[in-house]
Amino acid sequence: MKVKTTKTLCPICNAILDGTITDEGGSIWLERSCPEHGHFRDLYWSDAALWHTFERYDSVGRGVENPKVVNPPGSCPENCGLCSSHKSGTLLANIDLTNRCNLDCDFCFANARACGFIYEPSFDQIVGMMKMLRSQKPVPAPAVQFSGGEPTMRDDLIELIRTAKEVGFPQVQLATNGIKMAQDIGFVEDLKVAGLSTVYLHFDGVTKETNFKLKSDEKAVRNCEEVGLGVVLVPTIIKGRNDHETGAIIRFAADHIKAVRGVNFQPIAFTGAAGEEDVQRERITIPELLQDIEDQTGGVIRKSDFYPVPCVVPFSDLVEAYTGQPQVRFTPHQHCGAATYVFITDKGMVPINRMVDVESFFRSIENMTEKLKKGGQLNKYMSLIEGIREMNESVKKSEQGSTAQFWKLIGKTLVMQNFDALRDFHWNALFIGTMHFMDRYNYDISRVQRCCIHYATPDGTLVPFCTYNSGPVYREKMWSKHRK
Ligand code: SF4
Ligand code: SF4
Repeated sequence: MKVKTTKTLCPICNAILDGTITDEGGSIWLERSCPEHGHFRDLYWSDAALWHTFERYDSVGRGVENPKVVNPPGSCPENCGLCSSHKSGTLLANIDLTNRCNLDCDFCFANARACGFIYEPSFDQIVGMMKMLRSQKPVPAPAVQFSGGEPTMRDDLIELIRTAKEVGFPQVQLATNGIKMAQDIGFVEDLKVAGLSTVYLHFDGVTKETNFKLKSDEKAVRNCEEVGLGVVLVPTIIKGRNDHETGAIIRFAADHIKAVRGVNFQPIAFTGAAGEEDVQRERITIPELLQDIEDQTGGVIRKSDFYPVPCVVPFSDLVEAYTGQPQVRFTPHQHCGAATYVFITDKGMVPINRMVDVESFFRSIENMTEKLKKGGQLNKYMSLIEGIREMNESVKKSEQGSTAQFWKLIGKTLVMQNFDALRDFHWNALFIGTMHFMDRYNYDISRVQRCCIHYATPDGTLVPFCTYNSGPVYREKMWSKHRK
């Protein structure tokens, strides 16, 4: 049964094609025909019911007011960077600092050895990229992540982090294999002092079979605990390789809650030379991953505890209505990812939706926003009081919510203007998320047009993650053009 149409790419020649999304046998499929290479049918989501649930959270963003490129409709993903057709602003900007690496993994197609040349933008070029990101309108990019290759290979990394804070990024992140952080706690201290917010640590498992650098990762996490630097574990999940360890990875995170802020699972995307057989054997979709998490945590975290990323758009709308200022909006496509928060308590892990009835909580946020839009100081005050009362009701309706805890948080934050309360909330909660980057077998142009994760390039362009790394693969062109 056809459920939707979209635009997609031929997996062989990258021609832009009409695609049909179908619901058959309990799964969702992407079908398309290339005049030259024939018909293709690939798995899009392996749980049709969950796909339809997530579809309800469809929320299209507003793009940016100062795009770099003006593109005619229908040309995406050609001439990318950001263009006038793009529908989301930048939530997280990646900057590749180098393609050099201190490991030599066989499977890596992006390192200098595999490329045969070095890509490494200059300090001034990187500062130019950061300034461009902070000049985005109507909202400057709030977060930058230094990536690679291995960004700790650069001698000027500390200076770059310091400069990122100076140009105004509230969040500065580092995507790393953690080798240098394990070897040198002084380096970890320097990162923290320079203003680094979070380390994104490649972490594929909790055994030596799934994670060849486990000892190093454990040491890196311990060093971060000691220094007080937040870590997000980033496992790439491959069916048959490490999908049996999702529960154990979450438990590792919970055991290290002093430093570990979350786990961001990335189901494998088949870039590079992977063929059809690899896809058949190793593909894992978001619903399968969520089912693994449910099974491997004994149902403590359920598939139904996860929500698509745009579910938080009502919060941005509320803050916009309250402050009158445009806010960052989480508007990636509803099928790009899923997330939840889990509280680490004395009695174990408790997902946030056991503590609050999420549906009625979001409704109360939307009601409050509508009332605030009517304006007036007295109305603002009344709307807030009423909204908080409605939110309290949604805590009461939940399975195990504590209204006492809720009032402590709201009271301290809103009434006493004490934002430490929010920090305490954050430090006891673990973010569990997943984002399934696309490859040529499941490429959906309507997803990439809404992407919120963008790569800044030395050319002054901003390229969405899934056109940079797959589809037209702008990474290869950019690195080659600016090779040393
Ligand atoms: S991905 Fe976005 S920026 Fe790139 S061409 Fe498509 S709409 Fe434009
Ligand atoms: S990176 Fe890919 S999967 Fe993630 S939001 Fe962008 S388009 Fe979606």
